Amino acid sequence: MASAPWKVSLHGGHSGDFCLHGGDTLEEMLDAAVAFGYTTFGVTAHSPRSDANFLYPEEIEAGYSPADLDRDFASYVSKCRELARKFEGRLEVLVGAEIEIVPESGYAKEMADLRNRHDLDYIVGSVHWVDEMPIDVTRELFDEAVNKRGGLEPFLVRYFNLVEEMVNDLQPEVVGHFDRPRLYTDNAPEFESASVVEAANSALQACKDAGCILDLNVSAIRKELEHPYPAPQIVAKAKELGIPFCFGDDSHRISAVGENLAEGREYLLGQGISEIKVLTRENGTISKKTVPLR
Ligand SMILES: [Zn+2]
Ligand SMILES: [Zn+2]
Repeated sequence: MASAPWKVSLHGGHSGDFCLHGGDTLEEMLDAAVAFGYTTFGVTAHSPRSDANFLYPEEIEAGYSPADLDRDFASYVSKCRELARKFEGRLEVLVGAEIEIVPESGYAKEMADLRNRHDLDYIVGSVHWVDEMPIDVTRELFDEAVNKRGGLEPFLVRYFNLVEEMVNDLQPEVVGHFDRPRLYTDNAPEFESASVVEAANSALQACKDAGCILDLNVSAIRKELEHPYPAPQIVAKAKELGIPFCFGDDSHRISAVGENLAEGREYLLGQGISEIKVLTRENGTISKKTVPLR
């Protein structure tokens, strides 16, 4: 597929060699990224968790400990750096992480330490846990987290409050799948309730203040949601606040590399957004660059 300047993903490249719920190797993912015509491909492996209470089901099944996650993450960083050099001239590869917000009391320091220790190019700030319960693993675990909060409306308020806190704590370059709870509740009327809209707007304001880029995450299309993350009303509010977007394919195997990116571009254009903000390596540092969608 032909290359185009807008073919950039800043969230994805979760690969089977470093992620137990991914398939294919990181090198195969990068080959697929070249084949798709990506100009820049940000790899954002899931961050390790230091507390065994926050292992994902497949990690528990594999007998993993937090030390194993640490070891895999360190191997990921060195392999990804090596591949970034190998692919130079064909594909710009950025070495990042998608962070976690558990434990709620200590994640901010842990994630800042992780970033410094590995000298990461950037981080994607994502909320996958509410009240320290995983919200995008299974419908059952999601429902449990919602019930613990006393219903979908208070749950969504808490979710967006956590996004806001995470943005303030970590100032991530990219905020991942801003309205992730749509995974199991697409188009739920609670998203339009006053308290939820207020919490979402407040989180967006924090993104604006921290200079974040929002992840236009097209994996929602693969999951058969009506729109990518975030939903049209949130895209409209972000546009009003002047918050930029960049694509994320959230790929976990080669079949998802670049998948639905063209649909994501159409979606933004349809919302009156005609440019994205990308990250690029310039003179040894990471800087932001505006790229037109047409
Ligand atoms: Zn994943
Ligand atoms: Zn995520």
